[in-house]
Amino acid sequence: MPIDATLPYDDQNVFAKILRGEIPSKKVYEDDWAFAFHDINPQAPVHILVIPKGAWVSWDDFSERASAEEIAGFVRAVGQVARDNGLVVPGFRLLANIGPHGHQEVPHLHVHLFGGRPLGAMLAR
Ligand code: 5GP
Repeated sequence: MPIDATLPYDDQNVFAKILRGEIPSKKVYEDDWAFAFHDINPQAPVHILVIPKGAWVSWDDFSERASAEEIAGFVRAVGQVARDNGLVVPGFRLLANIGPHGHQEVPHLHVHLFGGRPLGAMLAR
């Protein structure tokens, strides 16, 4: 079910549990600001999720309230994960879903990285 991205942060969400090591994940990257792992239900040959370590519901509260250092650290981590996984050439897609119309299901900010095949047009019509 899509979530309301304006709700307060829920520390029982599945990605909070992954960050705390309470449930397993296939980790691909970690630094002070970010953690990346394979999506459990991949939509492309490569489907990686990158999440900030801070308690942010969505791009909305992260972009409004996170520190400049935290934002820079997260954005750089996303770029590093793409490079580490050979996505820059021939290209890939970054996606962040926000709220009900964005069909965000997990209320912890995450960026999807899709790659490994031509991905077609931006949105289904
Ligand atoms: P959203 O629709 O919120 O942007 O995407 C949530 C993503 O999280 C989905 O692609 C879903 O497959 C993935 N996901 C949900 N639960 C888990 C989990 O427990 N582990 C992993 N690795 N991915 C998950």
